Amino acid sequence: MTHDRRFTTQKIGKRIKLVERMIFRDRLPFAPFRITRLTSAEAEPPLGADASGWEVIPWDSYWGGQNLNYLMVSEITIPRGWTSGKIALHLPMGEAGDIFTHPESLLYIDGVPYASADRYHHTIYLPQDLADGHPHRIELHGWTGLSGWPPDPTDQSKLFMKPCAVVSIDLATRDFLSRAEVALDVARKLSDDRPEKHRILNALDAAFLQLDTRDPLGDAFYRSIPRAAEALEVGLARAGQPMDVTLHAIGHAHMDIAYLWPISQIRRKNARTYSNVLRLMERFPDYTFSHSQPQLYDYTAQDYPEIFDGIRARVAEGRWEVMGGMWVECDTNIPGGEALVRQLLLGRRYFRDTFGEVETPVLWLPDTFGLSWCLPQLIKQAGLKWMLTNKASWNQYNQIPASTTMWQGIDGTEVLTHSLTTPRSVQHLPFPTNYKSDLSGEEVIGTWQSSTVKERISDLPICYGYGDGGGGPTGQLIRRAEAWQGMPGVPKLEFSTVRAFFEAIEGEAPHLATWADEMYLEGHRGVLTSQGWIKRANRKAEIAAHDAEFLAARAGGAVARDALTEAWKLICLNQFHDILPGTSITEVFDDARKDYARIDALLAEVHPLNGGTALANTIPFAKTRTVTLPHDTMVDGVTQNAEDGILIQQTLPPYSVSDPAPETPQAGLSIAQDATGTVMENALIRLEFSADADLIRIYDKTAQREVLKPGEAGNRLQVFEDRPISWDAWDIDAFFEDRGEVITGLTRCEIVESGPLRVALRIERSYRNSRVAQVIRLTPHSKRIDFVTEVDWHETHLLLKVAFPVQVFSPNATYEIQWGSIERPTHRNTLWDYAKFEVPAHRWADLSEEGYGVALLNDCKYGYDIREDVMRLSLIKSATMPDPVADQGRHVFTYALLPHEGCWRGDVLAEAYELNMPPRLIGGTGDGRALVAALEPNVVVETVKPAEDGDGLIVRLFEAHRRRGPVTIRFADAPRSVQPVNLLEEDAGAPLPSDGPDVTLPLTPFQIVSLRVRF
Ligand SMILES: [Zn+2]
Repeated sequence: MTHDRRFTTQKIGKRIKLVERMIFRDRLPFAPFRITRLTSAEAEPPLGADASGWEVIPWDSYWGGQNLNYLMVSEITIPRGWTSGKIALHLPMGEAGDIFTHPESLLYIDGVPYASADRYHHTIYLPQDLADGHPHRIELHGWTGLSGWPPDPTDQSKLFMKPCAVVSIDLATRDFLSRAEVALDVARKLSDDRPEKHRILNALDAAFLQLDTRDPLGDAFYRSIPRAAEALEVGLARAGQPMDVTLHAIGHAHMDIAYLWPISQIRRKNARTYSNVLRLMERFPDYTFSHSQPQLYDYTAQDYPEIFDGIRARVAEGRWEVMGGMWVECDTNIPGGEALVRQLLLGRRYFRDTFGEVETPVLWLPDTFGLSWCLPQLIKQAGLKWMLTNKASWNQYNQIPASTTMWQGIDGTEVLTHSLTTPRSVQHLPFPTNYKSDLSGEEVIGTWQSSTVKERISDLPICYGYGDGGGGPTGQLIRRAEAWQGMPGVPKLEFSTVRAFFEAIEGEAPHLATWADEMYLEGHRGVLTSQGWIKRANRKAEIAAHDAEFLAARAGGAVARDALTEAWKLICLNQFHDILPGTSITEVFDDARKDYARIDALLAEVHPLNGGTALANTIPFAKTRTVTLPHDTMVDGVTQNAEDGILIQQTLPPYSVSDPAPETPQAGLSIAQDATGTVMENALIRLEFSADADLIRIYDKTAQREVLKPGEAGNRLQVFEDRPISWDAWDIDAFFEDRGEVITGLTRCEIVESGPLRVALRIERSYRNSRVAQVIRLTPHSKRIDFVTEVDWHETHLLLKVAFPVQVFSPNATYEIQWGSIERPTHRNTLWDYAKFEVPAHRWADLSEEGYGVALLNDCKYGYDIREDVMRLSLIKSATMPDPVADQGRHVFTYALLPHEGCWRGDVLAEAYELNMPPRLIGGTGDGRALVAALEPNVVVETVKPAEDGDGLIVRLFEAHRRRGPVTIRFADAPRSVQPVNLLEEDAGAPLPSDGPDVTLPLTPFQIVSLRVRF
């Protein structure tokens, strides 16, 4: 073909490069910048200060290494009437690293924040009135970023400062080239059998023949631009029609609240990104921007009120789309059930209070590492309608069949869900997509090509704009979006919003395929375990908030509302998808530690959580519990002195406060040691340890069966070499078991507790540079065996797991998730099964046959694997990137093995709550009454809290056994009214009739019900 023989695509490509420099028609140099270094992102820049003594950065010189916060100053004077085009600042300040790492600055003109300059935003259009012949001070407050990917703290690279200038832009040249570039991109991407391809090349060829490119390029070139532009348009019009497919171009900036930068830096990034968006909106009247995460809006309102006023105005105008649903784009596997509710409650209330009823009803989680199966129900109960994600396409093996689907949740709720289809290659992944398109031919055309619902859906979103550290669209990108309009043979591209996209496809919902499962991410499996301390801090903070709210609700009266809200905001903030998963730099976790200390202090204002002897049972179950009282407590009855206090046994009602009243424990608890080993038992179960302290036998006395697999020990501490291919803190790869060993190295094994209420064996082992100490405990009234563990860990790239081979065989295991549980295969028949070699769970996972099973519980871990009859829990990961000191030092955690008769629906939930939530010892005295109790065992009252508006209590419960039917809730006193509400605490349905203290309501499998109760 002619164009092949004549290399037309290559020729046009070269021509575009040749004339690109003609976009800048004139240049007006100014004096090189002077710079002052700032101590941190938090440091206030000394705007307006005398800079005469500051260091000068000459043009064409190297400056600033990585991670430098700075303020630069210079001055521009633009003569009146100067310009033959549009005036702009051109700031080629240097490039380093990849997309995460570039010098980025907020430009102030005469002390007012104006727009941002960064790697992608080199050219900043200026207001015409600056051409007044007077000097204007320009200041750049910014950060140089980290060295690259992966970040290397020792990297000494410098940035290169090219000459900056005021320039005048030749708009006609700029626009012609933008259109020509897109046309060439389309021609390259279309296949040879498409007539449009060849006609577009004809159009380009004709256009460039009109261009006067005789040396030296000058006035004749500019005079020829209109002819060339017209030739191009005429040719394109002849080339064909666009496809009858609409791509909704959604301007977006993915903002990782913390990642390769601390939160203090994202607060600066906010100003840089948003000022840019506002300037672009002035220049492009059709341009819209869609943005999530109320936390970021809140920071901006605090830090940059003038920028926030600009946002408000654009929101009111309808061009800035407020959306997202949650307080931050959080992880959804690790946060607790109530925390996910609070993400929605805080997020939606903030938008409503700040902007009115404008939020687009979508849960926007493009970058979250796997989506919990509880989400569809939460989405609907929070008043949202749609879900958008992207990460599902980062699976290593399998693709969820429909890119647009009805996602059916654990309870049957269905939500219209779209997974972005814009392709971009990511290392070794088979079908990755992205939420930050550069609107290249590959990505625009690929967005349609990658859709797997072409028969039904001809509207698709394409999110464009730089991220993950903000940036957003550039003028160049927006012009590219415009240049796509009317392009023959390819999808139409329109400026649009998330709302417009979902509204366009909503009618197809009844015809879409259903996905009835969690959205398990086949990748990033290590995030369930990385930075073990923060998983623990989050779990403990969620429990403390739960307990403080229950106690505040019980106490009635005024609640320290601001303290409670601030505590929840901090809990939610730290659940961001790179903080709680453990995938940020060291500094981020240093900040998080301070936040968790602050959360404790705030919750103590809501209700003191210790400091007395009244026993607060904050779990929704009546349980016989072993309680540790302070050493000096005087009580009558059976007690046992322990290292941490006086033990008593007492049965406590759910959600109650009781005075200590020791009960007589069941007889039969004992522990004995001789040269052959140790035996520990109660009336229900017997444990035998070898002389090497291996747990070699667990015998269930009431079921009369062995628990462990014959010939195999339980509580095996296994260590595996953990060097994932790509993302160190994120991944555990399929080959992690290639090289592993069991920790032996026994240094101590002795009985440390031997009384009527608890027996305990302390085992210590050393391993390489690390030590593991475990206290294995048994109480008289339960088969639960607790392994209270403290590890001093000084290893890297090793994954520590504990394994229990058990005599139970089932094709499926059950794992607790928020607001329910999920079954997953224990075999590897298919690639879908194979991929789930490390899965998320909350407090328990269970492997049961008919009539008998074993549960493995934990008090702060999230990564499980149960393969055939071996149950394992991941304990420590110890990656070195991006945090070189991740998981070094002390780890404290407890896991427990619970052999049981029947299935997990028996006592597993109650035992898991008990393990996690010991009774609180609070001041005052107790009345021993359950504030609220479910009379059926399949109902869990998860939350008891003061209503947000102070009107009554909110009681949130759920069906936990996948059972249907009426259930009864009993309150301590007869309620005045019981009003069903949604997650935003708005009325949802008719009030429920009560019968004295009882309320009966119907429940369906895994249904969540929230009630406003007034007494
Ligand atoms: Zn992200």
